[in-house]
Amino acid sequence: MRPTGPLHLGHLVGALRNWVALQQDHDCFFVIVDWHALTTDYADTSAVQHYVREMALDWLAAGVDPERSVTFVQSAVKEHAELHLLLSMIVPLPWLERVPTYKEQQAELRERDLNTYGFLGYPLLQTADILVYLADRVPVGEDQLPHLELGREIVRRFNQLYGPVFPEPQPLLTPTARLPGVDGRKMSKSYGNAIYLSDPPPTVGSRVDAMLTDPQRTHRHVPGNPEVCPVFTMHRVFSTPEVVRWADAGCRSAAIGCRDCKGALKQSLTGVLAPIEERRRAWAGEPERVDAILARGAEAAREVAAGTLAAVRRAMRIGP
Ligand code: SF4
Repeated sequence: MRPTGPLHLGHLVGALRNWVALQQDHDCFFVIVDWHALTTDYADTSAVQHYVREMALDWLAAGVDPERSVTFVQSAVKEHAELHLLLSMIVPLPWLERVPTYKEQQAELRERDLNTYGFLGYPLLQTADILVYLADRVPVGEDQLPHLELGREIVRRFNQLYGPVFPEPQPLLTPTARLPGVDGRKMSKSYGNAIYLSDPPPTVGSRVDAMLTDPQRTHRHVPGNPEVCPVFTMHRVFSTPEVVRWADAGCRSAAIGCRDCKGALKQSLTGVLAPIEERRRAWAGEPERVDAILARGAEAAREVAAGTLAAVRRAMRIGP
């Protein structure tokens, strides 16, 4: 995950909840990829370190367990960079240019100059992040599938040129609904429509109050259609089945108003966010422990990564 800003509810349901479940029965590596933050934020790096710390706190608060998983910061394990460089020698440029997010994100972030090698090459750095641990599964959302497919192509090319070193990583698709932000578009920091894991309850409350609803429901007595309402989508993700049924029926029959519906959503979100907030505060009070976790994670990661690079150098007949 790139440390370019605070984490929001979209990260919680799109990744973190899934990670917390996966760590129960998989050997997981969770990486704060600070080098990736530079691919878009290279001109102003002043906030990267801050967001690395915040991300570690959010992960721990959300339930990432350093006893069960290897949790660390990418730049602490230099093997990522070495593998990225070696792979860059064998990857044809058109493979990178045709990754769909390359053009899309350049258009989206038009205010920045993203005509850099780092930005073009970031899916390759992602591939190195995966292959350096010989990972066979990668938890991804659908939008990341083309990146993983590129990684698999690179594996085939490498193994064909130098012999079998890497397994082809398979996607572990994260089953998740697209979480809407307060304006109904996908929740995203860049749209300014997010509810953050670190938001205090009054802020969460006012964000919910500002949420769009079914635009056809112009008055309290007019029945609505929950299927088109972002508030209801949030209920589906965060509320109990009883509350979801209550909101669904109450909206369609006009038995409840949007204010009631939003009040119930605030309660559901408080139930989700309050324990996270509590754990976050506890971890924030122990910065040395967080440092020690990341250092221990980096050490464990380095051990695996060093073994992989030794095999890569042998296969490529390069270096000691
Ligand atoms: Fe949306 Fe709830 Fe209002 Fe229906 S009652 S339009 S689901 S906020």
